[in-house]
Amino acid sequence: MSIIAEKTTQVVSEINQACQATGRHPSEVALLAVSKTRSADEVREAFQQGLIRFGENYLQEALDKIQALADLPLEWHFIGPVQSNKTRQIAESFDWVHSVDRLKIARRLSEQRPTELADLNICLQVNIDDESSKSGCSPNEALDLAREIAALPHLNLRGLMAIPAPTDDAAAQRLAFAKVRALAERIRASGIAMDTLSMGMSGDLAAAIAEGSTMVRIGTALFGPRVAKG
Ligand SMILES: *Cc1c(COP(=O)(O)O)cnc(C)c1O
Repeated sequence: MSIIAEKTTQVVSEINQACQATGRHPSEVALLAVSKTRSADEVREAFQQGLIRFGENYLQEALDKIQALADLPLEWHFIGPVQSNKTRQIAESFDWVHSVDRLKIARRLSEQRPTELADLNICLQVNIDDESSKSGCSPNEALDLAREIAALPHLNLRGLMAIPAPTDDAAAQRLAFAKVRALAERIRASGIAMDTLSMGMSGDLAAAIAEGSTMVRIGTALFGPRVAKG
């Protein structure tokens, strides 16, 4: 068995265990393979293990891979910070954007989404720990932003995305994810439809699933440690 095959089996069983532990069905939790810094061949290998959703952070790197893998029926998710001069290419090449955190970016994606494509799926990224240095809107702004994004054409607001401050403490992990879940519930209660909680990475996927994650974004646990860029 190849390393990616072995690791995929491990991650899938970790997801299944986390679901079982909290009475959820594994079909409720999608696995997004985070393929930043990985080669097109590694993505191809992951596809052969049954993975179809891939997440990328760096636009040019992603566009090269999307082109090299155009023969495969893959779903591409942009999960990195979105610069406003990159929105056109993102709107043209991706199925999802998880990292929308301001209206200006959402408006540009809406205007630039080719009309012959399905609506672009959007997650609003929330800075759940309210650390001033990180991307994501503040939790206080989330409801208004969600309302404005939901009203834009050619976009489909799917839910919230969060990257809590890293910690090994399982209780602290759950607390942060519980805040995301509560925020999503408040937004839904005000009449805005959302079905996605994009939360959980290699180090905290069980806590995220326990708090209602519907999409975990997994890089290291599938592909091994990343070599630093540059
Ligand atoms: C890199 C990255 C991940 C994957 O992180 P791992 O710890 O390698 O699983 C998930 N989400 C985002 C937004 C990332 O940038």
